[in-house]
Amino acid sequence: MIYLDHSATTPLHPEVLAAMMPYLTTQYGNPSSLYRLGQQARQAVENSRRRVAARLNAAAPREIVFTGGGTESDNLALRGIALARQAEGRQLITSAIEHEAVLATMEALATDIGFDLTVLPVDAQGRLRVADLAAALRPETTLVSVMAANNEVGTVQPIAEIGALLRRHTAFFHVDAVQAGGYLPIDVQAWGVDALSLSAHKFHGPKGVGLLYLRRGTPLHSPVTGGGQEAALRSGTHNVAAIVGFAEAFELAQRERAAKNQRLSALRDRLVAGLLAALPEARLSGHPTERLPGHVSLLLGAGIAADMMIAALDMAGIAASSGSACASGRNEASHVLRAMGVPEDEALSALRLTLGDGTTDVEIDQVIAQLPPLVARLREVAL
Ligand code: PLP
Repeated sequence: MIYLDHSATTPLHPEVLAAMMPYLTTQYGNPSSLYRLGQQARQAVENSRRRVAARLNAAAPREIVFTGGGTESDNLALRGIALARQAEGRQLITSAIEHEAVLATMEALATDIGFDLTVLPVDAQGRLRVADLAAALRPETTLVSVMAANNEVGTVQPIAEIGALLRRHTAFFHVDAVQAGGYLPIDVQAWGVDALSLSAHKFHGPKGVGLLYLRRGTPLHSPVTGGGQEAALRSGTHNVAAIVGFAEAFELAQRERAAKNQRLSALRDRLVAGLLAALPEARLSGHPTERLPGHVSLLLGAGIAADMMIAALDMAGIAASSGSACASGRNEASHVLRAMGVPEDEALSALRLTLGDGTTDVEIDQVIAQLPPLVARLREVAL
């Protein structure tokens, strides 16, 4: 199989599995227990916290809260900050191309609790205009959430510029950096963020573990109550092996980032050029340069149904997706492409090919050779 769906998830790195193994076998203590086995597990959690805090340039390890993944981190940040600050104001701002973990949470805060939600538009390449955000800010704005990189089209947002704008405002700034975790240099101080979500399975770590960076002094009412773990912000017995795996995977991804990004962008550019040369009706969606290094998102052209294309590619041994994994299965244009102004019939032809550590030159050649005839066949069927 040629796996080209690394934005959906990535295989576990063997070194990550090796680092996790003791905590899945002999080191099974509960970090809250006082005897040695428990304290060794606690040390593993705290050591992981120190490692990721240093990589993120956080001011202190206690600014890191381990969670059960990206969705949970987004929920914790948005609900937690909005509710903690509701006496100061009730306007929330986000962008139209956020992941559902942010959009649905913001919408729930608006419809269930009565917050005033502003959803900012993006341009045709999926970039937020900072001037639009500046114009939408009001004294009662308490929280702004903008993703670092988009999962469907790979566009990277001007996060440091937004952070600089929000430094002059009392609103808190949350960033969903789930897709960016393995590829962008994430510096929470340089970016000027108050809260930031990451998820390990997007950079060759285990599934079901994430983190929320929370700048010291950021108010947060946690909806999770219980034993008081993670400074009472995320109660529940720590998933020690997964937390150790998170830290190891993040370290590997960030340490080797420059070389990997160079290799991935070269493969990506070759794939895009090869496919567009053979498919005159197709075009690249998202930003041409401000995009994730291994991310290819194509609009194959009106009349080509993406779900048929995914099935045909699967038969040919190629794993791809039609946009976000969560949204596939629904036969409607993605909210991201709609927000970018892509016409409905063209948006239904969206194909996402995302490259990763294991992707080879030979695989790219095979996809360039195999994909265009499949599109031609689907076009014949559609006529
Ligand atoms: N945010 C973005 C941008 C994502 O791409 C995803 C996963 O696809 C998530 C959040 C959710 O992360 P998780 O799968 O860890 O819940």
